[in-house]
Amino acid sequence: MKAGWYVLNYHNVDWENSLLTHALGGAVSPDIFRRHLSAFSRRGELISVQEGLKRLAEGVPFRRPAFSVWFDDGYSCVRKYALPICREFGITAAMSVCSRLALRQEMFWCAKLSYLSFVDGLRFLRSRLRPFGYERQENLKYWLFRNFTPQANAIIDEVYLRCSHEAFRSHAWKLFEDAQGIRELHKAGWLIANHSAGHYPLSDSDSPEYVRAQFQECDRFLDSLGAHERFYTVPFEYGRCAISEEYWAKLGLEGVLVKKQERISTPAAYRNRIIYRYTPITEYKSSRGIPIAALNVRHAIRYFLEKTRF
Ligand SMILES: [Zn+2]
Repeated sequence: MKAGWYVLNYHNVDWENSLLTHALGGAVSPDIFRRHLSAFSRRGELISVQEGLKRLAEGVPFRRPAFSVWFDDGYSCVRKYALPICREFGITAAMSVCSRLALRQEMFWCAKLSYLSFVDGLRFLRSRLRPFGYERQENLKYWLFRNFTPQANAIIDEVYLRCSHEAFRSHAWKLFEDAQGIRELHKAGWLIANHSAGHYPLSDSDSPEYVRAQFQECDRFLDSLGAHERFYTVPFEYGRCAISEEYWAKLGLEGVLVKKQERISTPAAYRNRIIYRYTPITEYKSSRGIPIAALNVRHAIRYFLEKTRF
């Protein structure tokens, strides 16, 4: 395995999925997360994100593979389960948060879709979106990735309100860390990054004003917490929902772009204010579509190592 710094991108760490998360994917249970860290620590060293950044800034060569952990979206179970596990391994991590989720201004729209799929509410959403070009049989989430507008977002919210009870919605906020919880993580030495205000699809085809406003709104929230590190992770970042390095440079945001791209982060890239993240396998499906890797860590890690050509 090549020496260098590997930043591993996780999302939620929880024992179970809820109605809001079962269709999101990317969650890992605490015991599996611990086994991942244990497996990575045997293949190199586990280091804190800040330690990795310091070595890049100082140009200290990595003599072995070094692994760090970076969580996206701001799930509250990360503090509950992953923080103590990271402590066991002597590291702090990073977490990217969305201000509107943390401030309870807006529930994550994909979580609303997840909920609606469970209560058979997507048919209402589909019919409401038909006048805007949505066609039957199309994958709704992918259609929304291409056609996400404030109007579409408002329709998702309307259907969510119609299909859910107020008590459920107020309980649902607990899925995401609030400002106080994020402050606690920051106090514990974690790096807090900007994942935009509302976790909307952002891409090169959006206007720079719109994209900049999404990140600046979250920056103001992070400033209010005393988290001024200025690291930016783009929501989704796959398929068309991605922002190129060229587009990013034009935005003029002072900070580091943290890309989801399976590459080692190097001092040269960091000087250009870019670092990269790998996606470890938290679950994958057999040829018949059955999730099999969640409980087979050795297989999952081997698959990850093969996939990323270490
Ligand atoms: Zn995200």
